[in-house]
Amino acid sequence: MMLRLFNTLTRKLENFTPINSPEVGFYSCGPTVYDYTHIGHLRKYTGDDVLRRVLEANDYEVKHVMNITDVGHLVSDEDTGEDKMEKGARESGRTVWEVAKFYEDYFWKSADPLNIKRPNIVAKATEHVEEQIKLIKKLEKNGFTYQTDQAIYFDISKFPNYTRLSGQKLEEKETGVRGNVVVDKQKKNPYDFALWFFTVGHFEDHTMRWTSPWGEGFPGWHIECSAMSMEYLGDSFDIHTGGIDHIPVHHTNEIAQSEAASGKPFVKYWVHHNFLIVDGEKMSKSKKNFYRIDEITQKGFDPLALRYLFLTAHYRDKLNFTWESLQAAQNALNNLREIIRDWEEPKVGCAEFEKNFMEAVNNDLNTPQALAIMWDMVKSDNPTSAKAKTLFQMDQILGLKLDEYVGKKLEIPEKVQKLVNQREQARKEGDFKKSDDLRHEIKKLGYEVQDTPNGPKVLH
Ligand code: AMP
Ligand code: ZN
Repeated sequence: MMLRLFNTLTRKLENFTPINSPEVGFYSCGPTVYDYTHIGHLRKYTGDDVLRRVLEANDYEVKHVMNITDVGHLVSDEDTGEDKMEKGARESGRTVWEVAKFYEDYFWKSADPLNIKRPNIVAKATEHVEEQIKLIKKLEKNGFTYQTDQAIYFDISKFPNYTRLSGQKLEEKETGVRGNVVVDKQKKNPYDFALWFFTVGHFEDHTMRWTSPWGEGFPGWHIECSAMSMEYLGDSFDIHTGGIDHIPVHHTNEIAQSEAASGKPFVKYWVHHNFLIVDGEKMSKSKKNFYRIDEITQKGFDPLALRYLFLTAHYRDKLNFTWESLQAAQNALNNLREIIRDWEEPKVGCAEFEKNFMEAVNNDLNTPQALAIMWDMVKSDNPTSAKAKTLFQMDQILGLKLDEYVGKKLEIPEKVQKLVNQREQARKEGDFKKSDDLRHEIKKLGYEVQDTPNGPKVLH
């Protein structure tokens, strides 16, 4: 079966046919580096990673570009409020550049342990100001801009069918203009968005500033993604991804800017990831209801258990994060590892399972189904060498690093074994508090104890 993806632009499942096969141009919106990456972000980046791996498994040559937003993203996604970077710097007493570097490093420190492949090109907004100015000039020449004392705006009334990505009527635009924020009174339409802000008025003290043909200032947030994606992937390219929050504003604006400049269709397939939520609410920096990768590992979880948890939900569905669900994912991963440690080295694979697995992921990245097929295969009575071969292939997409476990018998460190014995003793004596504490200590060392009728079993 050929790869099918749900395209936000058409609201349909479509067969995936790249513009210039076998090459695939793939752009994903990256982090705004003003605060810590949380596991909500990581769900999105894992989703991008799965998509990339599925494309590669279908023999496409993927060129993956991701931006780092280090200027211009205001506190609201619209043109109001403070620049997130400048706010981050003010609150932490560091320079904007230090803030960007620190949080970019933290982003990679969070993403790498989830076995998320790094993009082929990582593009920073501050290193592409020239390209952004060039694009604004093009828009100006094509008659899509106007200037006020505060900014250069994109005039959305000049762009037909501006809201086609969200399918919303303009009046219904989700993140509408709120009453209590600074608005530019010279703006023609409240939904016109800034391409270039002048360092005047409430941006007078903005530290990041560049000269431009229109005056000193800094680029708006949306223009960076248009400029950098077209710079590296051409005016028209195959796939653009982001979180669903980007549909009504950021990606809507990207389409307007890019197509108004080039006169060509911008992106063929728009893929949007649903949120990781906590207690029914989006996990987000601004709500401060987020967990970071450090908290996951400090509690003794393996970052790949988090990846496993993400795979259990379809990317277009919400996923509610709970510690219980993470524990269940960790248990599943441990059990899988335990089973495959006894396997022989890979030989011929299990063709039927491989086919079914590819069909699942090619069906709009159905990872929950893919996991179920993987488990059916693991539990099937095929020879373990065949299962190992198939598992390696599946793991090209799952990304759970299972090759580190197949056929590798577990050697339990003496320290862990000692704790396990002590725990068993405590259990026999009915000291369940002590036995629980010991289990926790064992977990901190990266091991799990499972009580079975034949005594305690140690997993890693
Ligand atoms: P930001 O750094 O806040 O600009 O977000 C980077 C990306 O992560 C965007 O594509 C967001 O849509 C996405 N994102 C933010 N919060 C979540 C969440 N709770 N679950 C899934 N994706 C998220
Ligand atoms: Zn973007």
